[in-house]
Amino acid sequence: MKVLVINCGSSSVKAAVLDSETGERYAELRVERLGTRECVARDGTEQHSIPEYDHGRALAEFLPKLAKVGPLAVGHRVVHGGECFSTPVQIDDLVEDQLEALSPLAPLHNPANLAGIRAARQCLPDIPHIAVFDTAFHSTLPRRAQYYALPQELSDKHGLRRYGFHGTSHSWVAERAAQFLGDELARLRVITCHLGNGASVCAVEYGRSVETSMGMTPVEGLVMGTRSGDIDPGILIELMRKEGLSVDELDVLLNKNSGLAGLSGVGRDMRDIEERAAQGDDKCRMAIAVSAHRLRKYIGAYAAVMGGVDAIVFTAGIGENSVAMRHRAAGRLSFLGAHLDEEANRNAKVSRSNPVAEISAPHSRVRLLFIATDDAHSISSSTAALLGRDAIAK
Ligand code: ADP
Repeated sequence: MKVLVINCGSSSVKAAVLDSETGERYAELRVERLGTRECVARDGTEQHSIPEYDHGRALAEFLPKLAKVGPLAVGHRVVHGGECFSTPVQIDDLVEDQLEALSPLAPLHNPANLAGIRAARQCLPDIPHIAVFDTAFHSTLPRRAQYYALPQELSDKHGLRRYGFHGTSHSWVAERAAQFLGDELARLRVITCHLGNGASVCAVEYGRSVETSMGMTPVEGLVMGTRSGDIDPGILIELMRKEGLSVDELDVLLNKNSGLAGLSGVGRDMRDIEERAAQGDDKCRMAIAVSAHRLRKYIGAYAAVMGGVDAIVFTAGIGENSVAMRHRAAGRLSFLGAHLDEEANRNAKVSRSNPVAEISAPHSRVRLLFIATDDAHSISSSTAALLGRDAIAK
């Protein structure tokens, strides 16, 4: 089925019409730096300057061109599904209101997702619109992995629990891994490491997410591009006391100025950080060392959570491209039965058409893979699956 997938970030729009089975792209749109004078839209080979445009205006102007390709449905990425949504859902006015009510849970993401939904529903009122949630895959987390050790009344009052994110990517690469290994995902224990600007690890036990490193918000867990990941919560209290930081300042500190950017002092891009580290920059070396150490800690922990592991998968920008990060994370896991083939790790490449590479040695009991993730393909598949199920039910 031809599906238009729309992914609205806080300052960007990525949209594509693609075949939900093969992933083949028929048309693509990318808008960057929304709300600034430098805002640009690229569709195909053309580039348009659209200063100060917001999500709604950009989609109103460029969606009609994508619609000409003839999508039969629209799949929207929605970051937070809260307690309401644990599977994809067809969007109507009531669902739109429910999504609006969830915005406080993901203030950086859900309002942008909703702006995209509103503009696209206006522009394409005659085809179904489906919301696909980052959190949905983790709705299977057992309660012991959901709870924070806080007073329960407070947790209940504010919905303080671990939800997890990047579900469309974790589930996608776990499925691809099972296919590659010629096995059923329901028979495997897989640790998936999504390492992009946002980063998270997931323990996929026999097909179900049983633990993941992001929590109530996407700040918990690994060292990310600009997010701190795990820190001692006592530090926040210290900073409020000693630096007089306000709530908004803490928000900016943890979400925008920490992570690789904060540690390295040269920005969030791992390519730059690796280059400078190779030239001897100590802060950049530290940024890499702290990130890799945290990742290895999570991999060990998740093997313990599942009582073993059959495959470990690296994905997203850093996971698919950084030989050094995979070496640091997987190079000392032989105690788990995971033996890295250093040469394969250095030389293997993945692409959309050839998405899986194996980097474990032949005698490795645990298989080590890196896999090209494809969120748009994952969302289009979920969209088509929901519509197919509904059609069968009718
Ligand atoms: P997003 O979460 O924004 O989709 P990506 O999955 O594109 O992010 O990942 C971006 C990260 O991948 C950046 O830190 C970038 O530097 C890193 N990356 C991309 N290519 C390479 C490479 N060849 N070597 C190391 N890191 C890379």
